[in-house]
Amino acid sequence: MKALDQFAIAGRSALVTGAASGIGLAYAETMAEAGASVTLTDIDATGLEREAARLAGEGYAVRTAVLDVTDRAGCDAAVAGHVAAYGGLDICFANAGLGEGPGFVAPDGSRVEDGQVDTYDPALWDRSIAINLTGSYNTMRAAARAMKAGGASGGRGGGSIIATASNAGLILEPIVPMPYHPAKAGVLHLVRALALELARFRIRVNAIAPGPFVTNIGGGWAKQDPAVKQAFDATIPLGAMAETYQMKPLALYLASDASSFMTGSTLLIDGGVALGPPR
Ligand code: NAD
Repeated sequence: MKALDQFAIAGRSALVTGAASGIGLAYAETMAEAGASVTLTDIDATGLEREAARLAGEGYAVRTAVLDVTDRAGCDAAVAGHVAAYGGLDICFANAGLGEGPGFVAPDGSRVEDGQVDTYDPALWDRSIAINLTGSYNTMRAAARAMKAGGASGGRGGGSIIATASNAGLILEPIVPMPYHPAKAGVLHLVRALALELARFRIRVNAIAPGPFVTNIGGGWAKQDPAVKQAFDATIPLGAMAETYQMKPLALYLASDASSFMTGSTLLIDGGVALGPPR
């Protein structure tokens, strides 16, 4: 089989959480551009409708569901709605996440008083674990159930689940809020656990670990303050934060049969950040 043919996903369907902005929106665009039918979900109803209307206006097959990934029954309902609309679920991106609160040092290297383990607001710990880790579990749980049912009912069966973790799940970044590290490391190991369990159903589960992308995460600081972004760019071996279009080929690779022999993997896309500072 030719290499490019293995990237074909036309006629399949994909559900994306956190699809109103940033990396999740790029995933949804990729799926639509490649001919899949897409459900965009997000807690932000306004952004969701804006982006879905734009994509529908460009002729793509999209629908929406307002979804808070901390709502387990809501995840089940969003996936059920997707299956009812499109006849099954082939691809799911468990992507919704956030990084709230300070790290223990500021980008200029100074100590952040309320970013220390004993001063950090525990409510932010709870929220980070609930959205980044448990939200990913809620999403992948609902997707796995639908994909298994698809195979059992005589459909094509199988599927591809992709979780957005972070390079902070692999390395430590002092400017990143403390709970974000264990939450994303948890996502990576959850992906491995589910990959092993679901392999016999031909459901593949992989993780993307992005480094710094320009999105609305953390309030969108990288978009708002060019000086701060420039300083941050200087810490990245490849020279600058990524734009979300740079995520698209990797999303298509993992969603499609191009990655048919890959499960339980973590794909790092970080501009070389994990290698250490540029020299
Ligand atoms: P973003 O803020 O641009 O997009 C995140 C989206 O998730 C938003 O539309 C937001 O409304 C939605 N969301 C937040 N909480 C939600 C909830 N409880 N339920 C449903 N939707 C919710 O940020 P992004 O950078 O595109 O983040 C996407 C994913 O990428 C996150 O998991 C994030 O941790 C991860 N990530 C981002 C970077 C980066 O540098 N941007 C790096 C590593 C990992």
